[in-house]
Amino acid sequence: MSGLEAWQHTEVCVIGGGPAGSALALRLARLGHEVCLVERHAFPRPQVGEALTPGVWPQLELLGVADEVRRAGFLPAHEALVRWEDGTARPLRERAGAAGLLVDRGRFDALLLAAAASAGVRVLQPASARRPERTAEGWEVPLLYMGRESRLRARFLADASGRSGCLGARKVPVSVPTLALHGYWRGEQRQGPETRVAAGPDAWYWGAHLPDGSFSAMAFVDPGLLRERSIGRRTLEPLYRELLEDSGLLEAWTAPRLVSDVRARDATCYRSEVPISEDCILVGEASFSIDPLSSSGVQKALQTALSGAVAVHTLRVRPDHAAAALRFYTEDQRDSVTRHAAWAAGYYAEHRAHGDRPFWKHRAAPTPAPVRPEPPPLAGDALPHRRWRLTSEAVLVDTPCIVGDFIELRRALSHPRLARPVAWLDGVELAPLVERLDKGLTLPQMADTWARQVPWRQGVAILGWLYRQGLLSEVP
Ligand SMILES: Cc1cc2nc3c(=O)[nH]c(=O)nc-3n(C[C@H](O)[C@H](O)[C@H](O)COP(=O)(O)OP(=O)(O)OC[C@H]3O[C@@H](n4cnc5c(N)ncnc54)[C@H](O)[C@@H]3O)c2cc1C
Repeated sequence: MSGLEAWQHTEVCVIGGGPAGSALALRLARLGHEVCLVERHAFPRPQVGEALTPGVWPQLELLGVADEVRRAGFLPAHEALVRWEDGTARPLRERAGAAGLLVDRGRFDALLLAAAASAGVRVLQPASARRPERTAEGWEVPLLYMGRESRLRARFLADASGRSGCLGARKVPVSVPTLALHGYWRGEQRQGPETRVAAGPDAWYWGAHLPDGSFSAMAFVDPGLLRERSIGRRTLEPLYRELLEDSGLLEAWTAPRLVSDVRARDATCYRSEVPISEDCILVGEASFSIDPLSSSGVQKALQTALSGAVAVHTLRVRPDHAAAALRFYTEDQRDSVTRHAAWAAGYYAEHRAHGDRPFWKHRAAPTPAPVRPEPPPLAGDALPHRRWRLTSEAVLVDTPCIVGDFIELRRALSHPRLARPVAWLDGVELAPLVERLDKGLTLPQMADTWARQVPWRQGVAILGWLYRQGLLSEVP
């Protein structure tokens, strides 16, 4: 080992122990890879992103940490009070049984990292990575660990270092520049525990109660506002207080007290140009950042880690499927960012009271995306008689899909009405079924045609889905 210590070699080096890095490392370790994770801070460390959407639960189940998270004493988030369109507060409830979470990110992230360590990941912490260098065998990562300069060699590199992105990968902005001014408050609570979202003339606001009894409150503004008022990062507090007073968020408290420094954080959305290559992947905010409006940054970060783990596993174990793995991860990220940006622009457009102010004009979608109407419900007595086939726009295309622990190319149904090609529906592969729908058949005839491949009821359900998506056209 040419004088290097054992810990200085690894198969996969993950830089960053936030949700994305820990989840990626944990999954890769479970898939049998040797993983070393480098995190520069001792945990718990503070982090923004305390509201987690209900969609994190299946991810936490998959990672095997859901029970521990349930026991950790975080707060359930059932409801938000949203003052958006015209200043009227409207409750927004999660579906029954699907609560999100308000967490202390220091403890939440520490819990995920500990789970990764238990799965066999070697954790170097606190250890700060500097810009990694490509070598003939893979990567060398210069480290400051235990007060010493050293180098870690790895075959594969994962950048999970968040917004700072230790690889310095090129980022494409996806939104106008946005800054979050953030502080913590305490006081006597006089209204309910709902998360609060509000819109003002030159900002939008978010506030939520945290497990330690404090209230986390943010104002999202245009960085130009600070320049206009000649405000530097050290003198943010008066502006932050002024914005929060206007926001209505503090009405939930009697005599609220600001109990922290006020910090400015970049909240501009971006995506990396190349999120994956044969020996390197970017996950979480090292890869892309979405508008905090949806509070789903952590869910998205975990999603990139889970799909990223399958992509890395494929690259390492089945290099013959490398092209599919690279395409899958790249397209998945691009679609995710595009969909979220369109959703956010539509949501900004819903705010009317100050819609003519630059803050709102620069963020709102100019015109709402046209919605293609669903076909009308079918009358039951028409079913046996009317004949249908797939519309001419529906085609089968080779699409990279997750199959078990790998990515493989599969035939999938593609149509302008579908956000992306669909290979499976309800666990059933669609291609062999829809290939048989080129002739005009009644719906019962179609279900009969499929009877060898799927139970009749499931066949009828798939036909119902095809019809509702507008993928069937009637044969005159
Ligand atoms: C203002 C704001 C509000 C937000 N609110 C929400 C919200 O309510 N809900 C939500 O879900 N998301 C929210 N987000 C997004 C959320 O914070 C991120 O999506 C999430 O933290 C991304 O996780 P990550 O693991 O990619 O990165 P991070 O959580 O940033 O973790 C990166 C880790 O890498 C480490 N690191 C960095 N550089 C190095 C290095 N050189 N060497 C070693 N270690 C390194 C860091 O110490 C850190 O621990 C918000 C974001 C912003 C900006």
